[in-house]
This record gives sequence, C-alpha cells and structure tokens, in this order.
Amino acid sequence: MSQAITPILLTPGPLTTSERTRRAMLRDWGSWDADFNQITGRIRQRVLDIVHGQGTHECVPMQGSGTFSVEAAIVTLVPRTGHVLVPNNGAYCARLARICKVLGRRLTTIDYSEAQQVSPADVDRALAADPSITHVALVHCETGAGVLNPLHEVAQVVARHGRGLIVDAMSSFGAIEIDARKTPFDAVIAASGKCLEGPPGMGFVIARRSVLEQCEGNAHSLALDLYDQWVYMQKTTQWRFTPPTHIVAALDEAMTQYIEEGGLPARGGRYARNCKALIEGMRALGLRSYLDEGLQAPIIVTFHAPVDPAYEFKAFYQEVKKRGYILYPGKLTQLETFRVGCIGHFGEAGIPGAVAAVAEALKAMGVKQVSEPEMA
Ligand SMILES: *Cc1c(COP(=O)(O)O)cnc(C)c1O
Repeated sequence: MSQAITPILLTPGPLTTSERTRRAMLRDWGSWDADFNQITGRIRQRVLDIVHGQGTHECVPMQGSGTFSVEAAIVTLVPRTGHVLVPNNGAYCARLARICKVLGRRLTTIDYSEAQQVSPADVDRALAADPSITHVALVHCETGAGVLNPLHEVAQVVARHGRGLIVDAMSSFGAIEIDARKTPFDAVIAASGKCLEGPPGMGFVIARRSVLEQCEGNAHSLALDLYDQWVYMQKTTQWRFTPPTHIVAALDEAMTQYIEEGGLPARGGRYARNCKALIEGMRALGLRSYLDEGLQAPIIVTFHAPVDPAYEFKAFYQEVKKRGYILYPGKLTQLETFRVGCIGHFGEAGIPGAVAAVAEALKAMGVKQVSEPEMA
C-alpha cells in the first residue's frame, strides 16, 4: 500500500531529499568499477573543499550511520592510552562519552544542562588542570535540543594546550561554516543524510593527514579502522569492504546540487530562513521554543509541548502526519517537548505548511491551551 502523499520529513536525518537525488539510486554499480570509484574520489574532494582542507586533511568515508563514523574516529585517532574530555550538553555528547567508555578510552566530562552552551573557559580550565587529557571531543550542533556550540573558540583553546580536537559536526556540516585554515582540528565527522541532503547510510571523517599517518594500530576494531580504510582507499581507490553503492551515487548527485545552490552560504542561509519562519510561525500559535535565541542552531528546534491535558505526542504526530509532515519527538530528559527540523529539500512553502498542519492538528485534538499564561 502506498501513501496518498509522501510526507515532508521535518527530522534532522533521514530528511527530505530531492527527486534528482533519489533518481541517482536507480542503477547498480560494481564496487570494483572505475566509474564508481571515481564517484567516491569526487565526494572525498568535494567534502574537503567545504572545509578548505585540501592539502592538509584527508576525507575517509565509512559505511554505516553517522555513529559508525564517530566510533571509527575515536577508536582510530585516540590511542588506547589516550584520555578524552567530552563537554556534555545533550544526548549526542552523551553518546560520544558512551563510545569512549565502550572502547575503554579514559573519559572525563564537563556536564551542562541541555539549555546551555559549552563554555571554552571551562575547557581551558579542565585542560590546564589535567595534562593527561589527550583529546577533546566536541559536538558542534547538539541535535538533542538544537544548541550550537562555540567550535571555533573551543578549537583555539584546545590548540593552545597542544591537545587533539575531534568534532562531531554531523548535523552542522555543510550548513554552518567550519574552516580548517582558521579552526584547528584533528577530525571533523559528518554523514550523507544531514545537511548535504543525501540519503542516510554512510559517514566520513575529515582527518588531519599528519595525525592520521600516526594512527596505524590504534584501532581494536577491524571494520571501524579508519587508518586501514584510508590506506586501502589511497592504494586501490576502492572501499575496503562492500560500499553502500546507491548511497554513494546519491550523495554525489546531492553534492552537485549543493554546489549549484551556492554551497555553504546558500544552504546555511536557506536553513536559517526556515528556522526563523518556524519559530515565528509557532510563536503565533502560542508554542514556545525551548532555547534562548542566541544558542539556537538553524538545524532543529525544540518546542515545549502544549500544557493542555488533551495533548499527547503520539496522537499529535499522527494528526500532523495526516497533513503531510513528519515531526520528531523531544529528546530532553526532564521536559515534555517535541522537535521540528529545519533541514532538507523542501521549498519555501514547507515551513508555513508545517505550521498550518500543527495548528489544524491541535484543533482536531481539542487542544486549547498551548502555553502557560505569561507572567504579569
Ligand atoms: C545524526 C547525528 C549523529 C549520528 O546519528 P546516527 O543515528 O548514527 O546517524 C551523531 N551526532 C549528531 C550530533 C547527530 O545529529
């Protein structure tokens, strides 16, 4: 049974892709084939172009969802005797910390609330206090609540202390600037199915070449060994194990459209307009966003759930879905919230359409009171 309409995904990966991108998946490729390996090579170059990392950095793709690439980066770039500092302001930071634990890497965290930004001064203090810390692992946009962390400032601090920086830039890469010439990092991690608007199924690690060269034998994982993946790819132009061929072809097509659109400024600008229209439209319905404006990344917005007892997320989700939009549940531990993504290939009518769908859905559910009365 097919749905009457294909809904617009307002979720931060998987997200709505263009028809052109989806059509690129309609043929099969052999993994040994030179034409296919040229596509892989082109993606690697274009990814480096986005961060201005040509000559200094290497893009190593990895099969799997984004987390596979995060784990590959940690297990390969952090020596087994390493010590990782994770400033933690949300669910994806907590996942990074968990990866370190599972891999047996020594871990220290700086804990924040989900409504706070990571503070470069705190990182500075932690690094000064503990010389055994070898790496800082930072989430750029914490997709849990939607906070943008101060990557550039943290990178300056980490560089000043001579430690390594590993950045989970999964939900910001391609939309929020990261410039390797100005912002020092050992590794930036991203994936196909976020701001580059490809389908999900592969990630990549942009690693400083001089760092990667020293990582042989660090990984105690066969499949997630980035060093081996890199060396094999340099030697053969092929992926070490079966590549996600259709995803690679579709990401290549998505990146062509990214460049046609005007690259990072255009992509980031479109998402910022979506984000502004979303927050304003929802505010007009009485729905308040969770974060202070200055901390909000233009990627995903967390909203307080309506206070009316007639509200319930599952029913709300179904009502909005009937109207053509897929929302995302909240990821906060303390508060009842829901989230709406600003990223993906949908036109300027997407956000106003979603806001209208939310208004109709609440009405259909009999939700009258959406927020607490304003304090006098
Ligand atoms: C999406 C995302 C990931 C990866 O999640 P997967 O489900 O493994 O794709 C990691 N970090 C952040 C910040 C993300 O937004």
